[in-house]
Amino acid sequence: MVGKNMKNNKVETGKNEETTDKRIEETTDKRIEERLTNEDDICKNGKQETVENVSVQIVKGKIENGLLDNSGCFLCGIKAETSCPRCGVEACSIHLSQHNGVQEGDEVVCLPFRVVWRENVGRCVLATRDIQPLELILQDKPVVLGPNYETEAVCVNCLGRVDGTCICEHCNLLFCGETCKKSYETSLQDNSSATTGVLHATECAAFSQMEKKFCVENVAPGTVAYEYGSITVLRLLSLRDSAPAEWARLQVLMDHDEERRKEEVYWNMFQVNIVDFLRKRCKQADKYSEEEIHWAIGILRTNAANVERPYMARQGTSGKAIYPTFSFFSHSCICNARYIIRPDDTMDLRAQVPIRQGEEITIQYISFLFGNVRRRTDIKNCWLFECQCVRCQDVTELGTFVSALLCPKCEGSVLPKSSSLDESEWECIKCKNIIPDSEAIQIFSKLEKTMFDTFDTDVAKYEALLEEYRKILHPNHFQLINLDLVLEVATEIYLQIS
Ligand SMILES: [Zn+2]
Ligand SMILES: [Zn+2]
Ligand SMILES: [Zn+2]
Ligand SMILES: [Zn+2]
Ligand SMILES: [Zn+2]
Ligand SMILES: [Zn+2]
Repeated sequence: MVGKNMKNNKVETGKNEETTDKRIEETTDKRIEERLTNEDDICKNGKQETVENVSVQIVKGKIENGLLDNSGCFLCGIKAETSCPRCGVEACSIHLSQHNGVQEGDEVVCLPFRVVWRENVGRCVLATRDIQPLELILQDKPVVLGPNYETEAVCVNCLGRVDGTCICEHCNLLFCGETCKKSYETSLQDNSSATTGVLHATECAAFSQMEKKFCVENVAPGTVAYEYGSITVLRLLSLRDSAPAEWARLQVLMDHDEERRKEEVYWNMFQVNIVDFLRKRCKQADKYSEEEIHWAIGILRTNAANVERPYMARQGTSGKAIYPTFSFFSHSCICNARYIIRPDDTMDLRAQVPIRQGEEITIQYISFLFGNVRRRTDIKNCWLFECQCVRCQDVTELGTFVSALLCPKCEGSVLPKSSSLDESEWECIKCKNIIPDSEAIQIFSKLEKTMFDTFDTDVAKYEALLEEYRKILHPNHFQLINLDLVLEVATEIYLQIS
């Protein structure tokens, strides 16, 4: 069972997925058809050259050609009028710059991938040549960046920690200090916010509309400032009018509208906290429809990556961003590429093993170190698909037994009877003793909670836990490994203090 808090957390850390799930495929097709209908209208109106058409033409390509491999722009698939002068990869004028990345030492390289549409799979990314380990695959910049959905009050300029004393004079949202406040005021005066990366103008205008002046009462770490949940949504929506090229790139991402509507509690929570808040209290109803706002929420939930610049990590704050090209990469629990986000928010994706030409390039949205049971449930809850990779389909987790229990009767390994998420029984592989799923899950969650409630330096408590759980969990169990590490750190701190 995933509790509410955990799930909310997960909503924050969402990364996209392009899924193999049939249901989602059908939903996408439906939405594509809707968008196509709109596109026909646009074409009739003779606006074929607009940037927004790019996204719809990609979609058309999918329907008309079935497959987009090896034709058209490497990123959007439309018939490209330009190509890379160095390697000949086809790229439309909007996406040509996306084909180059900058390696260490300022060397410009041609990036080795193209986006394809595969029937029954969706959009995914293939290697266009052999790629060596650590080679750069993608460099992406965020098109939207802002506070998390459920966050404490943070600086609306830099997302750093605030103490509540430096307030925006227009809207009452907070800055971390005079430097951030000044850079915002300056950008207002010389109208330079678009070029200097100062982002606050969008929500400042909206929050200034509130009749009862907005006020953050408690800035303590861990205290949620609910109004902040609307900021990134608003920043995303504002691209519609301010940055049509970026807006077009967002239109082809998944928003999982249909699946989200089924989660009634969450849907209603977003309706009140964001949709109604923006449309009624911030008076944005003329500007953004309910549907548009829910779409923006879905795009953020499904596609946003966590951003934690070095100073934010030190201050314990974080935010989220959408990297639109990165969003095309699918998840695998045995992925072949890994990403890092640099201090300037640029994302570098690199190969971690040799990748052959034509092979799919995959990333990991969530670490496999937490074991199958926990990871697969989290994937299902956050990104709304069931992972079908080899690791997820194998109850022994490729022979590692990182989620296995010990049989109370014979000390054999106890594993789920099948890899189905609905499996209700665990079984000892030696004596066939059965343990109900609920009992197994309770062992994990009880230990997790106890560890959460234990002081970092409580060596005796960790030793006792280790002793107790060595008798219950398989020696390779991820929680035992974690417990070992925590005990090591606790001992070190204890020795330093005494
Ligand atoms: Zn393109
Ligand atoms: Zn090239
Ligand atoms: Zn700041
Ligand atoms: Zn403001
Ligand atoms: Zn998997
Ligand atoms: Zn047994």
